[in-house]
Amino acid sequence: MSSHIPLRLVQRRALTASALHLSFEHAAGEALAFRAGQFIQLHVVDAHGTLQRRSYSLAAAPQAEGGRWEILVGLAPGGLASARLARMEPGETVEATGPFGRFGLTPRDAAPRYLMIATGTGIAPFRALLPELEARAAGGARVAVLHGVRDEGQLYFREDFLAAAQRTPGLSYLGCLSRAAGDGCDPPLHAGRVQTALAALAPQPSDIACLCGHPDMVDEVAARLRDAGLPPPAVRRERFTASG
Ligand SMILES: Cc1cc2nc3c(=O)[nH]c(=O)nc-3n(C[C@H](O)[C@H](O)[C@H](O)COP(=O)(O)OP(=O)(O)OC[C@H]3O[C@@H](n4cnc5c(N)ncnc54)[C@H](O)[C@@H]3O)c2cc1C
Repeated sequence: MSSHIPLRLVQRRALTASALHLSFEHAAGEALAFRAGQFIQLHVVDAHGTLQRRSYSLAAAPQAEGGRWEILVGLAPGGLASARLARMEPGETVEATGPFGRFGLTPRDAAPRYLMIATGTGIAPFRALLPELEARAAGGARVAVLHGVRDEGQLYFREDFLAAAQRTPGLSYLGCLSRAAGDGCDPPLHAGRVQTALAALAPQPSDIACLCGHPDMVDEVAARLRDAGLPPPAVRRERFTASG
């Protein structure tokens, strides 16, 4: 699917002062298909009248009937798309292209353990992958989701991951706080970056890892996983570059 798609905003939820959970439907009522892990591009016109595109990972699992496209938006101060999306009200429309990308898992993947590592809004595609991760854990694999943020309030969709971990032995979720201790949280949080939480998991060459979010984290963790013996195809990366 690559032509312009008119999207109508049907739901907006402020998760924090700088993060929005937006839900779109096709403005003409058509199906919105995608694979979990993919992203779309929203079209925004800049001050010079030039069309700009900004990428957003789809943040909810695909539905058989081709339901909605949900995204998690981190509002960048002074950002073009951020300003547009921050003002957008239900009923308004925006053009999009997509879906794009091959991030995530394939039906041929058969690892004993999956390491899903995100920072910030990079948790979005893992929420879309959650039913698949649960199915793999139910089938005997282990799945570890690590989410790194500055403080607890930025653990977007935490309740969804905790609920999945509770009903699915083999699936674990750990919030990692780089700037706060997270004392007294139940279940406990990791005081530190995802890199230190990952070291405690002792990555193995047989693991498959998906890394998503801040480009520095993605690059650093990818290098560590290569050092731990994971072959390049087993380390999948989605770098949330600015103006992507
Ligand atoms: C594959 C992919 C998936 C992505 N998925 C997501 C997602 O799910 N959620 C999400 O939030 N983001 C995601 N991103 C990032 C997203 O596409 C945007 O880059 C981001 O939201 C910022 O867009 P913006 O238009 O608001 O900011 P921009 O206008 O691109 O600006 C970004 C920042 O740079 C600053 N800036 C802009 N121009 C200048 C300048 N000339 N000088 C100095 N500073 C400047 C702005 O103030 C702002 O802080 C993804 C990126 C990629 C590549």
